[in-house]
Amino acid sequence: MNIILLGAPGAGKGTQAKMLEDKFGLVQLSTGDMLRAAVAAGTEVGKVAKDLMEAGELVPDEVVVGIISDRVDEEDCKGGFILDGFPRNTAQAEALDAMLEEKGLSLQHVIEMKVNPDILVERITGRFSCGDCGAGYHDIYKPVSKEGTCDECGSTNLNRRKDDNEETVRSRLEVYSNETEPLLPYYQGKGILRQVDGMASMDAVAEELNAILSA
Ligand code: ADP
Ligand code: ZN
Repeated sequence: MNIILLGAPGAGKGTQAKMLEDKFGLVQLSTGDMLRAAVAAGTEVGKVAKDLMEAGELVPDEVVVGIISDRVDEEDCKGGFILDGFPRNTAQAEALDAMLEEKGLSLQHVIEMKVNPDILVERITGRFSCGDCGAGYHDIYKPVSKEGTCDECGSTNLNRRKDDNEETVRSRLEVYSNETEPLLPYYQGKGILRQVDGMASMDAVAEELNAILSA
């Protein structure tokens, strides 16, 4: 089973993708994570991506399409994958269709996580995570119990993403509504669009996703 999680920045795609990996044996393919790794490693892709990401703009289509195409060919994706953060515009969606057809693959579900845009800036600008174990936190909604220390593993290596500042978040949200939202009618037309309430609790969202994937 191959699926897409669609939703604005901060909608909770990453959190739910991790849950679906464990529960359904799927592999999460996050273009954002892959690009951040490329930036950290200073690769050619990373050099192209760095400034665009810091400005909240999209990295060129051919770059992300190439990354996804290579990644999907790897052995661990044979059992199915979750696309998180890709496609992000119509050109990428069309490239994805062509790529899947060529590889003899298909999409079963495109799931939109619906959220109220007003709360996204607060959700995103307050979030941080543990650089060692990956646990996610939020200043208000999920604070650590001991200042500066990860509850899960005791690490003091807590980080904020460089693009999680208010100005960049506003441009990311604008890019989402201008470029990515038009994908909803695109997938609706193919009859594979599903919707979940991303404002519900993490557990409730997980349950809705379970129901869709188990049906
Ligand atoms: P979010 O969805 O929370 O904004 P991501 O981690 O998915 O964050 O992406 C961070 C940044 O990486 C984006 O703002 C963009 O610059 C770049 N990026 C990620 N995926 C894509 C993509 N499919 N196409 C172009 N740029 C991308
Ligand atoms: Zn930790």
